Amino acid sequence: MRREPKEAKIKKPFDVSRQRLITNQETEEDTVVNLSLRPTKMQEFVGQKDVVANLKVAISAAKARREPLEHILLSGPPGLGKTSLAHIVAHEMGTKITATSGPAIERAGDLIGILTNLGQGDILFIDEVHRLSKVVEEFLYPAMENSQIDFVIDKGPYAKTIKFNLKRFTLIGATTRAGLLTAPLRSRFGMFYHLDFYNSEDIIRILERSAKILNIPPNKEGSFEIAQRSRGTPRVANRLLRRVRDYAQVKADGRLTKEIACSALEAQGVDKIGLDNIDRKVLKAIVDYYNGGPVGIESLAATLNEESDTIVDIVEPFLLKIGYIKRTPRGREVTELGYKHLNKTYKGQKELFK
Ligand code: ADP
Repeated sequence: MRREPKEAKIKKPFDVSRQRLITNQETEEDTVVNLSLRPTKMQEFVGQKDVVANLKVAISAAKARREPLEHILLSGPPGLGKTSLAHIVAHEMGTKITATSGPAIERAGDLIGILTNLGQGDILFIDEVHRLSKVVEEFLYPAMENSQIDFVIDKGPYAKTIKFNLKRFTLIGATTRAGLLTAPLRSRFGMFYHLDFYNSEDIIRILERSAKILNIPPNKEGSFEIAQRSRGTPRVANRLLRRVRDYAQVKADGRLTKEIACSALEAQGVDKIGLDNIDRKVLKAIVDYYNGGPVGIESLAATLNEESDTIVDIVEPFLLKIGYIKRTPRGREVTELGYKHLNKTYKGQKELFK
């Protein structure tokens, strides 16, 4: 029987966002180039000092005890380095890594093959771990807890549960929405780390490293302009760098100067702080249709004809981070800063209960 690919439905909102230059979702071009730009060792991983320091301690301790690492949950918006960190952990532990994602594992059966092929101490990386189906998730519990899986053979009165012992592996789960993880799954992780947006200096360091790998002559001012528009996200920074490189090659002498960086990104609709048309559309919709808010996410999504997941996962985190919108129990509101960015007058929020 042919199974309808579940992905087709799930991917839709992300496909829309993938067309954005400043999207933090991985595009096909990213996949190819990122293989060379992705840091492979801890010392190449820029920023996130606390997470890196804690991971180093855990890795040294586990190595000294000759034991696998405990299961690790990495959370944070897309493009901040969760996948890179998982690969680095495997590299530092000297083990193999198998990577998959929550929506890709449709049935518990898909997981049996993956789990039984893991060696002692190997890393299983599950991206979007909050999107595992309930059945798959429950199948994973005993595997995480005591390296065992239970499978049932036959049906009805003849059903038998067979236990299968696995090698002790480490699950590294990545999620953009830690809050959506079920309590039983969350409790089976031994370490939790949250990755936050990067500051400008760190993004500049990442850009300098990438420019070197891509053979682009370094230019501090040019990198600074790109960093300002990168939304604190390395994946976005690397993508903007590639677009500026194209522009510089075609419109100038190939050098990444401040002027070239500004013109290239302006031409792509990315403004001075890294907002693109979709961000501005969200801000404008709240201001124009809802008088600045508060508005519930579903109504906003319907007004914009977007999926609410796209807004929650991709647009909103950065607007919240820079203080252009705020979340209240009654919905999203555009702040004074947000109004200013749109060149509109802020009238203050209506105090309904006054
Ligand atoms: P996530 O899994 O969180 O979506 P990735 O690990 O795929 O993010 O990171 C996207 C890209 O951004 C990487 O391929 C790499 O080029 C770059 N990157 C992310 N974090 C860092 C970092 N700390 N230092 C250097 N480059 C980074």
